[in-house]
Amino acid sequence: MIRTVTGEITPEELGRTLIHEHIICTSPEFQFAFPGWLPGEQVVKIGVAKLRYMAEKYQLRTFVDGTPISLGRDLALLREVSEKSGVQIIASSGFYHYPCFTAICVPPETMARFIIDEVNKSENGINILKCAVDADGVTPVIRKYLETVALVHRETGLPVFMHSHSGNKTGLAAQEILAEKGVPPEKTVVGHVADSNSPDYALELLERGCYVSVDRIRSANAANRVEVLYHLLRKGCTDRIMVSCDHVCCWDTVMNQPPAPNDDLEAMGVIFDGIFPALEARGIAPEMADKLTKENVINFFS
Ligand SMILES: [Zn+2]
Repeated sequence: MIRTVTGEITPEELGRTLIHEHIICTSPEFQFAFPGWLPGEQVVKIGVAKLRYMAEKYQLRTFVDGTPISLGRDLALLREVSEKSGVQIIASSGFYHYPCFTAICVPPETMARFIIDEVNKSENGINILKCAVDADGVTPVIRKYLETVALVHRETGLPVFMHSHSGNKTGLAAQEILAEKGVPPEKTVVGHVADSNSPDYALELLERGCYVSVDRIRSANAANRVEVLYHLLRKGCTDRIMVSCDHVCCWDTVMNQPPAPNDDLEAMGVIFDGIFPALEARGIAPEMADKLTKENVINFFS
């Protein structure tokens, strides 16, 4: 069974799924200190509007929320957005790449103990772990995060999403550490692999048996993403690719301007309006849309 913030579902019930998006991203310290920082009602309003739109127009059934504890994850808020929008949400635990005070002070075993505990409470709806390695590669704190996530994986079996820097191919070294610590490649999806506009990084990861996420898709870069996807699919790499926008429905920029939920209501629609039609025009079978947003996701979570 797969945990969502509104209860357990079978893998088949995932339906059309985006593997890496966010309802909210913010700094937990600001959220904790200032109750008025990113007011929950605003976040819910914007999140519900966007998810409803995706469900009605594109039959989106599941939204994998990639916000870890260090980016302001709020399980109650995710539950409210899911209930009001009707879209299933899978929550994450784990870390972004910024060093946090706690991670400097305590060993991975201590952090892992608490994360295992929250994962085991199935009502939390956590079914994926997050780790991140950016342009600087595996720093001492990031190594601790990776070790923590591996400990949690070994105890819970949850798959892992890894934020990575495609220009410096930093996911390669980080994935090796995860594998050494017991996370098999087929339980790892490495994200942001197409940011460098080249398929090479994704190919290296796919050769290792990892899943890859071609994401951060925007209207402005859709043509580049199509190019990378076309190359990978024509090479026969169809089984371990997933797609997403890495869209953040609500983040700190709303503090600088009045929230406008309708402004980019269609942000995530580019996958179904832009990417798949363009691939089809180049001879990729129309069934590929379901393959990358349903079948591969089911296999990854099974
Ligand atoms: Zn993200």
